[in-house]
Amino acid sequence: MSTDSWLGGAAAVATLTFDVDAESPVLAAGAHYAGHLMTMSHQSYGPDVGVPRILDMLDELGVPATFFVPGWVARHRPGLAASIVERGHEVAHHSYAHRAPTSMSDQEERDDFARAMDVFAAQGIEIQGHRAALWGARWQTPELVAEHGLRYDSSLMADDRPYRIATARGEIAELPVHWSLDDWEQYAFLPEPAIGTVIESPAKVLELWCAELDGMRHYGCLFNLCCHPFLSGRPGRLLALRRLVEHALEYGDVTFLRCRDVAAAALADPALTARALPEPPVYP
Ligand code: ZN
Repeated sequence: MSTDSWLGGAAAVATLTFDVDAESPVLAAGAHYAGHLMTMSHQSYGPDVGVPRILDMLDELGVPATFFVPGWVARHRPGLAASIVERGHEVAHHSYAHRAPTSMSDQEERDDFARAMDVFAAQGIEIQGHRAALWGARWQTPELVAEHGLRYDSSLMADDRPYRIATARGEIAELPVHWSLDDWEQYAFLPEPAIGTVIESPAKVLELWCAELDGMRHYGCLFNLCCHPFLSGRPGRLLALRRLVEHALEYGDVTFLRCRDVAAAALADPALTARALPEPPVYP
């Protein structure tokens, strides 16, 4: 077992994260999709059906979670963020309009970031962390996160344990993600806009995620699972997620935390030294 203090004596730490994208990724693909009733209903299922069902499941399992909410979604559903925080979970920043930073200019990213912060401030929701839309962070994104006084980002993949990034505006923790722990690659299917073409069996997904959890217990990692309520909120998929959590709890050595609590532990762990981002590669 690792002696790194961020693990708190656990074999692995698990963060259940739910990206409450709702209609935002579809509208970011084209504002005219607002006129597509089926598409809008497919996306609204997330906050309207998936989130309440997920909150009830988390209560029953007694585990905390983190919900990354785009500012646009929070603004259009004014009670949503508060309803999550009231249940003991964390709400974090997930852009305003769900456009990837890599698709924006520096100024556009700054404006989008600040606009989401303003929405949460107006609703009295305290924000400590950020996840880039589509995980599409730019080299400037970590500094922007630090500039707004946030403590962590969760968009990058340079490790499978938390790490610390030194920016010109201060240090943040990175809680790394990976495509193998994202339900989008397993369940996203929509013909137009084409956000995905897969509908996998929840049994296969449960097997995949349990295998990764077992490996992460062996190596002392952060099991940072990314689910979307419009995908994983569906009945059979949510049962599989419940079984995954029960499997982890049965080990007795996997700790479930909110992302902000992992970030605080990582920033306080002397074994995790701050890394400066390398220079972006120049090619050719
Ligand atoms: Zn998202």
